[in-house]
Amino acid sequence: MEFRPRRRNDNGNYSQNSQFEKTTINIPTHLVGKVIGRGGSKIRDIQSESGARVNVTKDTDGDQTLVRISGNKGEIDKAVDLIESLTKDVESFSINSGQVEEPKEEENPDNVIYINGWKTKKYDNNIDWKAVFQESDKRNREEFDSMYVIVKNFYQEHPEVTAMTEAEAEQFRLENNNIVVKRVFSDQDGDIKKPCTKFEHAFHPYPEILEEIKKVGFEKPSPIQSQSWPVLLSGEDMIGIAQTGTGKTLAFLLPALIHIEGQTIPRDQRKGPTVLIIAPTRELALQIEREVNKYHYKGITSLCIYGGVNRQAQVKALKNVVDIVIATPGRMNDLEEAGHLNIKYITYVVLDEADRMLDMGFEPQIRKIMYSVNPNRQTVMTSATWPDSVRRLATSYMQNPVQIYVGSLDLAATHTVTQVVELVEDDINAKLETLFEFVRSMTPTDKIIVFCGKKAVADHVSSELSLQYIPCTSIHGDREQSDREQAVQDIMSGDIPILIATDVASRGLDIDDLTHVINFDFPKNIEEYVHRVGRTGRAGKRGKSISYFTKSDWHHAKELIPILEEAGQYVPEEIYNMAERYEAMLVKRNSMPNRGRGGRGGGGGGGGRRW
Ligand code: AMP
Repeated sequence: MEFRPRRRNDNGNYSQNSQFEKTTINIPTHLVGKVIGRGGSKIRDIQSESGARVNVTKDTDGDQTLVRISGNKGEIDKAVDLIESLTKDVESFSINSGQVEEPKEEENPDNVIYINGWKTKKYDNNIDWKAVFQESDKRNREEFDSMYVIVKNFYQEHPEVTAMTEAEAEQFRLENNNIVVKRVFSDQDGDIKKPCTKFEHAFHPYPEILEEIKKVGFEKPSPIQSQSWPVLLSGEDMIGIAQTGTGKTLAFLLPALIHIEGQTIPRDQRKGPTVLIIAPTRELALQIEREVNKYHYKGITSLCIYGGVNRQAQVKALKNVVDIVIATPGRMNDLEEAGHLNIKYITYVVLDEADRMLDMGFEPQIRKIMYSVNPNRQTVMTSATWPDSVRRLATSYMQNPVQIYVGSLDLAATHTVTQVVELVEDDINAKLETLFEFVRSMTPTDKIIVFCGKKAVADHVSSELSLQYIPCTSIHGDREQSDREQAVQDIMSGDIPILIATDVASRGLDIDDLTHVINFDFPKNIEEYVHRVGRTGRAGKRGKSISYFTKSDWHHAKELIPILEEAGQYVPEEIYNMAERYEAMLVKRNSMPNRGRGGRGGGGGGGGRRW
């Protein structure tokens, strides 16, 4: 069943048609895909954010396509702004690092773009981008090389690590989430640093950092940390293939603090941040900021900048130079281009959740950032998966990186969770009834998160609960930023015990004392299942997950069984039956003429290759 939210304008009010207007704008035809988005996703976002109706027509005028927009004036203006922000990336190359030549009088400035002073034509599909970027890169290097020397190597191997044999190091990796470490683009694996099994191993020259770790009370480095710290403290580029919840933030953060303090230019003489952390969503950016704020070292300061909120406050905050900027890609470029953020001093860049950023269409923004910052920098990338798109990004911007992989499924996280699979009818009302039943049985100390597959379902579930006077809050991509922040605060403080969420919006959210996870809709893949379930049962407590499983989820049954069995959980007979029936269907389908390997669909996970 499809749920269509009513259209709302910017202020959250239902749109009024009193001053209904229509307008037409042009966009460059080669950027139409950016405005429409995958399966029309961007158009839907623009419509629901602005309240206007947007129709990308098939009518063209030269290299431009006509877009019709209707609604009231405010809605139309908002939609035009949103479309402009989506199509502006190509144009935005023209504003780069203050090196733009003055255009000659006879040229039409609208048709010309400049990349670090290198002139070319806008919207020209014949542009040799490789040559443009090579030229840009060369100029960048010359400029940056003459600026200052970056200090990257701060590592002093602890005697206990030195004493560790290679075989012992390998054994430790095997026993700690099966860490796999290698140089991903070359064969020189021999010189990879051995893991640090204690905090002192990595930070013995930095007692203040050890003191901060002691304050938060962690026992030992997480697997990703034990291998990342020696690599990053040595100044190497690193790719961490790890999910949220593995301690990846601290893995790149503590070396970043040491990097900031260890540069030759004193901090008070730098005109911009030293460390840049790029994250796909506002929630993840804020989550990183919370983590950064837990550690105090030499008065290092940070600022989080993200889209969807008024930029004035961020512009004002940027007037004071901070050491670390945590940013979402669009807003970061926006503020840099407008001259509010000086990126010339950035020498340590983190691309957090790179796969998710690419999935969300941020590749142009990321490429722009990477071409603009110091090419001699240190670069860190984290990603839950390792598809070709992420690999290409790494090849473009990293120097002989060390890749650290810590196991795709952190099954240990599910061992403290009682996992229940409830078979329900494939009908939203049946699921809602099951949810109501559960909610009626909740105790005052329960705190739950309810995962829905779509924003519209999340909206529907929260309004149905609210109609029954059940206090709940929700978080998804269509909600205003302030509402999302309020929702996070309400669930964290315990003021509201039920949070309805989608995966994307809740990514990076770290709520310690959740008692239950409800999978109202089964997740898209089994990694996400493990990830969701692992949000409860933390900090020495047990948790419970309840997954509503319908007959249309049958393709997940085969992967779900080993997870449940491994954790000693009850597997309903029907789940085994579904797995068998699904397998049989695949065999039958693949044996049909013309439906073999080339057939559509199939049971494969889709998306990028899992490591
Ligand atoms: P992350 O994967 O960065 O999202 O981290 C998930 C959670 O693990 C955060 O709440 C961290 O504070 C916590 N954490 C990070 N490092 C450790 C550690 N060595 N031991 C225990 N918890 C940790």
